[in-house]
Amino acid sequence: MPTRFLEFAELCEALAATTKKLEKRALIASFLQRLAIPDAALTALYLSGTPFAETDRRALNVGGSLLSKALAEASHASRDAMYAGYRRHGDLGAAARDLLADHNPSGSPLTLHDIQHAFDTLASARGPAAKLPILLDLLNRSHPLEAKYLVKLISGDMRTGVKQSLVEEAIAHAYSAETAAVRRAVMLQGDLTAVVTMAAEARLAQASMKLFHPLGFMLASPVESVEKAIERFREETGISDSPVRRVVLEDKYDGIRAQLHCGDPAQPSRVELFSRNREDIGASFPELREALAHFDEPVILDGEILAWNPREARALPFAALQQRIGRKQVSAEMLEQTPVVYVVFDVLYHGGELLLELPLAERRAHLESLISRHAPATAVTSPRKQTLLFSEPAPLAFPRLQLAPAVHLESATQLDRAYAEARERGNEGVMLKDSASLYEPGRRGLAWLKLKRELATLDVVVTGVEFGHGKRAGVLSDYTFAVRDGDTLKNVGKAYSGLTDAEIADLTAFFHQHTLEDYGHFRTVEPLKVLEVAFNNVMRSGRHNSGFALRFPRILRIRDDKPVAEIDTLARVEEIYNSQPERLNEGESK
Ligand code: AMP
Repeated sequence: MPTRFLEFAELCEALAATTKKLEKRALIASFLQRLAIPDAALTALYLSGTPFAETDRRALNVGGSLLSKALAEASHASRDAMYAGYRRHGDLGAAARDLLADHNPSGSPLTLHDIQHAFDTLASARGPAAKLPILLDLLNRSHPLEAKYLVKLISGDMRTGVKQSLVEEAIAHAYSAETAAVRRAVMLQGDLTAVVTMAAEARLAQASMKLFHPLGFMLASPVESVEKAIERFREETGISDSPVRRVVLEDKYDGIRAQLHCGDPAQPSRVELFSRNREDIGASFPELREALAHFDEPVILDGEILAWNPREARALPFAALQQRIGRKQVSAEMLEQTPVVYVVFDVLYHGGELLLELPLAERRAHLESLISRHAPATAVTSPRKQTLLFSEPAPLAFPRLQLAPAVHLESATQLDRAYAEARERGNEGVMLKDSASLYEPGRRGLAWLKLKRELATLDVVVTGVEFGHGKRAGVLSDYTFAVRDGDTLKNVGKAYSGLTDAEIADLTAFFHQHTLEDYGHFRTVEPLKVLEVAFNNVMRSGRHNSGFALRFPRILRIRDDKPVAEIDTLARVEEIYNSQPERLNEGESK
């Protein structure tokens, strides 16, 4: 019997009703056990909140406005009823259930397989006009509860409190496998559905690395001072006298983090670069692809793409790279004017071996030998225009592939100096890494610390937009933004300075496309745009639902490279609040 989508929706409802992790895991595991393998595979995938496997590059491309339109048509709800429904829940899925409460599903009952088929069709349909009938068919066939989870699944906002890691644990329980074996297979295969099949058939050990699907990125935790950094390592390593010897120091580059996959013998010249959003950004950097196409050993490297000044052998400011972001075609002029390099600081896979579980010191040794073998072949001569730009008569050769310098930490004074030197080289600060640490994909732990000592900044997501004033009256230039608090978003401020007119024009078009509710002057928008904001300090305030407000927020940049799941948290805001001098807190809370 094919599994009904209604059963899946009921499972989601039961999952959302409990906060207990073990209960959630048991619910998922027993559900999976009851199903045939293909349906269990789809269940695991959909529970993790995505319509397609990680290795599958397709996207539904159904935005909030198209979903709202389909919902309005299917439910015959008025504009006011739509707004009221959305406002009641702050969630389009929950609103869909209310709006379709009296709806009698027509046609054959939806199965998981039908949903999969509809997703395939949605992904290949071009444009809203082609996608709308598919959405309407699905909604017309849905029970109210099905509509709720259908909309949630399409908008990627399940709110069942189930993360992929819990789904992995449940798979292990359902098929009596080790959780570690399931997680390893997911990492290697990048496909939950394939892993469910392997687990069910007791074949997890056969999982093998597939190049060209991104692994998670290891992330760093912030520290404010040299002293704090050393103290943190002392706690982390448990070494009380001199933990510094275990620490490696690197510059913190201000470019675009990218994971490089290349050298597959089966596809010799294929080169892919993935951003932290797991998007393939290779098309924006054709010169890197070209330079790395001759790499004849399969590798996955971790590093940073930087705009480069070859004459001074240092990075150009991030702004020089910004024009490349999201670009599918790069003009010859852009290639000439802004040379880019790939600075590597880690190796995750090489020659058939996954290296994540080696300590950093060993990975680094591996990396050094790799780079010394391959970097020379990536050397290019800087183009003429570039040399003119830097008033340099002779063209300069520089490798596109570069090793990030690393040194052992010796003392607090050396760290202080390294920080100052990194800043002088145009980099953001320094990274401190425990040389005994393993590479933990997707983890922001204490094995990597980032030290940037300027004013704290926060990565936030825009939740509301407003038209500006004066010459900005026609554009959406004021942005209300939020941080993460568990599964929800909490607003912490509103900013209207720091972006160029061109950026504001782009954002205006973007937010028109992604408006959820339109109140005339103010709109709520889908939480998709990540901004990095600076501010003077944090104060307690009832103005926003977080209970905090940033004082004098300024937008430093749009961070299309950063997934919304990785923005800063309310806990971090609170931490900054608590770290401020008492004087500031008292002064601002009045
Ligand atoms: P943030 O974007 O503020 O969360 O800072 C973490 C980011 O620092 C990473 O995602 C990288 O893009 C960047 N980064 C710069 N230099 C390094 C480095 N040497 N090692 C690791 N990450 C680095």
